[in-house]
Amino acid sequence: MDRLYDVIILGAGPAGLAAGLYAGRSRLSTLIVEKMQAGGQITLTDEIDNYPGQMPEGESGQTLTQRMMEQTEKFGAERVSDTITETVLSGDVKVLRGMKGEYHAKNVIIATGAHARPIGCKGEREYAGRGLSYCATCDANFFEGLEVYVVGGGDSAVEEAVYLTKFARKVTVIHRRGELRAAKAIQEKAFQNPKIHFMWNTVVEELGGEDVLSEMTVKNVETGEITRIEADFADGMFGVFGFVGLIPNSELFNGMIDMDEQGYILTDEDMHTNIPGVYAAGDVRRKSLRQVVTAVADGAVAAVQAEKFLTE
Ligand code: NAP
Repeated sequence: MDRLYDVIILGAGPAGLAAGLYAGRSRLSTLIVEKMQAGGQITLTDEIDNYPGQMPEGESGQTLTQRMMEQTEKFGAERVSDTITETVLSGDVKVLRGMKGEYHAKNVIIATGAHARPIGCKGEREYAGRGLSYCATCDANFFEGLEVYVVGGGDSAVEEAVYLTKFARKVTVIHRRGELRAAKAIQEKAFQNPKIHFMWNTVVEELGGEDVLSEMTVKNVETGEITRIEADFADGMFGVFGFVGLIPNSELFNGMIDMDEQGYILTDEDMHTNIPGVYAAGDVRRKSLRQVVTAVADGAVAAVQAEKFLTE
């Protein structure tokens, strides 16, 4: 058998990196397996202003997680880039099979995060990357001087709408209800921004256009009224950014680990799942607040529990 790690952490977002830091500091042999680029969803955030003590002006998710990574490495956690496709978690030795290799550990911390939920309208697949995006920091610059629409009313939608005003001529938030879900501090920024407009009680029915996104049909859910939106002739296109929530990256553990009906992993307050030696931390688990501050706390708790499991 290959090396048997004390703990393997799946995912290198804030929860996984914090777990790696705490496990490394406890001198546990630790491997962090990341699927693609390390850092997780927060790397898509342009500006963070609610992580305690983190005040540098213009700090992005990318720079914050870069420092987290360096700190984790400093305490000895190893990292490998691989996609795990199969797991055997029930025994004392947990087995993780990936595209590049097989990994073994006494404890596994699942910190696989979540990904953007599709808007669920017609034409969504066709226009992804041709006017439709789910990442403002990645794609905002393509819409310099154009009109954009943001779908959703949560923290992501409203925060990213504010960010998009740095590029777009006009930003319209399309929300299915008459009030936003986003935190009040985030809402205030949006309401004060003259470039931001709102379409309340509205859902997107269909996206269209010849080559790129230039037409959209929306429906007022209260009146049933259908409105067709067309790009300005001079622009030839507009942008749509979807931020209608998250889907947990927990599919790999279906039927193995207890989850709620949305696929969020169920844990107790010390991050234990229903399998001994297996923990979940961060956005992938069912919890009431999904933020960097709660993700890193989950990661720390899970790592300490892993250490306890080994010593007991
Ligand atoms: P979210 O909080 O789940 O909000 C999703 C929004 O999309 C809601 O307004 C929801 O409407 C709407 N929605 C859901 N399904 C829809 C559909 N099919 N069609 C149209 N609209 C739909 O998701 P999120 O904003 O992506 O945030 C995810 C998590 O990350 C949250 O826990 C959030 O607090 C956290 N987050 C935090 C920060 C921050 O702290 N600065 C930033 C970003 C995200 P309803 O309101 O009607 O349900």
